Amino acid sequence: MTAPLQRPPRKNPVLRTPQINLPPAARGRTALALTAAAAEGRFELQVCSDCGTVQYPPRDACCRCLSDALRWRAQSGEGELLSLTTLHHSNDLFFRERLPWRLGLVRLAAGPTAMVHVHGDVGAPPQRVRVGARLDRTGQAVLIAFPSHLEPHMADDPMLREMSCDPKFRKVLVTDGKTAVGQALVRALVKAGAELVWVGQAEPWKQPGGQEELTALPQVSLVPLDVTDGRSVQTLAGQIGGKVDIVVNNAELHRGFGIAARRGTDVARAEMDVNYFGLLRLAQAFGPALQGRAADGVAHACAWVNLLSIYALANFPPHGTFSASKAAALSLSQCLRAELRGAGIRVVNLFPGPLDDEWNQNLPPPKLSPAALAAATVQALRDGIEDVYPGDVAQEWLERWRENPKVLERELAAGGAAS
Ligand SMILES: [Zn+2]
Repeated sequence: MTAPLQRPPRKNPVLRTPQINLPPAARGRTALALTAAAAEGRFELQVCSDCGTVQYPPRDACCRCLSDALRWRAQSGEGELLSLTTLHHSNDLFFRERLPWRLGLVRLAAGPTAMVHVHGDVGAPPQRVRVGARLDRTGQAVLIAFPSHLEPHMADDPMLREMSCDPKFRKVLVTDGKTAVGQALVRALVKAGAELVWVGQAEPWKQPGGQEELTALPQVSLVPLDVTDGRSVQTLAGQIGGKVDIVVNNAELHRGFGIAARRGTDVARAEMDVNYFGLLRLAQAFGPALQGRAADGVAHACAWVNLLSIYALANFPPHGTFSASKAAALSLSQCLRAELRGAGIRVVNLFPGPLDDEWNQNLPPPKLSPAALAAATVQALRDGIEDVYPGDVAQEWLERWRENPKVLERELAAGGAAS
């Protein structure tokens, strides 16, 4: 059984913060499909459409019949551990700093045999295991063998903690604590074991409900933060930037207008100022400090979470300017992801369907509850996933968008009834 993670000791301020060394990141174009599936939490392998062979490692043609008709399909990962090796030496700097490291050979029930990382709770071979794909610190997929049954404290395995962004013992900034979503996120992060949660408050004189409940939690501190004000963002980054391990940017402005429903650009500008420029200001102020602390002990800086929307993929005309601002934020988050990847920091994008909040009052159900969104966010951090589509509506629209983006555009234009 994995030993439960202990609260990390206080940092010695005299010592230099260790710099991150990343594991080997080079992958061929074909193998990136494995990474793309792992980024959404799936383990997929190539399956030959002609002879049905499942193959690993990824190739351009079927290893059995040379057909190039290969499809990526989700796998259960069931298999048998054939051999196990514990590495005590490595010339690679990343692994050298994290030895010992367990590797093994697994014969998957689907056919292929794969060299995989092995979770600490997996016993000696022969042994039933379940292989899953996870993103490593470079954001590339690697395979891990897990025990076939869940064990306590599995997430505390040192190797797995390197691949995930578990909030346990970490310090988190949630950029807006006034919304129902923000408050649900704070509660979920505290429940997940976060050491400290700073909760941003714009316009502190406006006091919506729920704030007292949050401040009663010993881990929570309210901090002034207005993402539309560069000075406010920089001041907060100067105060806590060097301590934040996870940034959760949930600050958003949402108004239900298209183009014709309003004159002028005031509302659209305000949405862009929070949803797009707010992210830009936060990323410029907090990004460098996160990158500098990516290897700072077991609770090192690890993740940046953005609250986007499924409307970032295709415009929902009744909320047209909001959709456009979220599309802009999605594009910027991809830039942030590319820039933070070099330091091993993960950018997690949330694409919920309509939330059950005041701005979606006139939309028919199903709508996603703030608590469900918060739970999905914590789970994504624990699993180290990059793109999250929480709830049935988001899942269904994602599927339609994948199938044919033009059809989804027309459906959303017709009112967006996801039926
Ligand atoms: Zn084949």
